[in-house]
Amino acid sequence: MADILAMAAHPDDIELSTSGTLLKARDAGQSIALCDLTEGERGTRGSREERRRETERANRVLGITAAERWNLRIPDGNIALNDENILKAVQAIRYFRPRVLIFSWEHDRHPDHDACHQLVRRACFDAGLAMVRTEYDGEPQRPHRPARMYCFFHTYERTPDFIVDISDQMERKLAAVAAYSSQFTVPGFESDTTRNEPQTFISEASYMESLLGRMRHWGFMIGARYGEAFTTVSGPLKVNDLLGTI
Ligand SMILES: [Zn+2]
Repeated sequence: MADILAMAAHPDDIELSTSGTLLKARDAGQSIALCDLTEGERGTRGSREERRRETERANRVLGITAAERWNLRIPDGNIALNDENILKAVQAIRYFRPRVLIFSWEHDRHPDHDACHQLVRRACFDAGLAMVRTEYDGEPQRPHRPARMYCFFHTYERTPDFIVDISDQMERKLAAVAAYSSQFTVPGFESDTTRNEPQTFISEASYMESLLGRMRHWGFMIGARYGEAFTTVSGPLKVNDLLGTI
């Protein structure tokens, strides 16, 4: 069971886009879970095994156990919207039974992120249908549909519907991202200069500098130092307390 479940295509996507918000939820006593759809094995840098070790390192930084993070092992680069993959995602949603599900926005530079959006959105609906049957550990799973779905951004974005202040979580977020040393160069963290692999869009220092600038900008928009932005896909936000939005 988890109050909030985050789902994304590749290990490190969640760290980059929404780990500050997850850490903040956990700091407030809420339970969180993570689910990566693939192992990122098609990436230009880092092997499958290396990325597994990096994910374990990131989990330690985030303070989550292996049981709180699933990997659906859908082939990287082929997140097809088919029954097999939908049922894998349904199984994860019914296992963690989140009240809020956060996942990738539908339009991004990386096609896997778009495919993740379509798959998770479909699975979210199907998870609530009794006629869609799944099992876990030999037992039938009960239907469950999250009450709210929110999307985070990777490269492309739209005007956010809301922004979470992650100033107090920023240091830990960067440490979690830096755990993926085969993928990123994070300012302030040691980078692996011995690697004999081509640089990519995301491995250049300028990539993290750009993301830092954007998180700083999102923070600026809400009067904070750093922020993570979201858009809603389940209708307007419900607000109980106007003062709580300050
Ligand atoms: Zn990704």
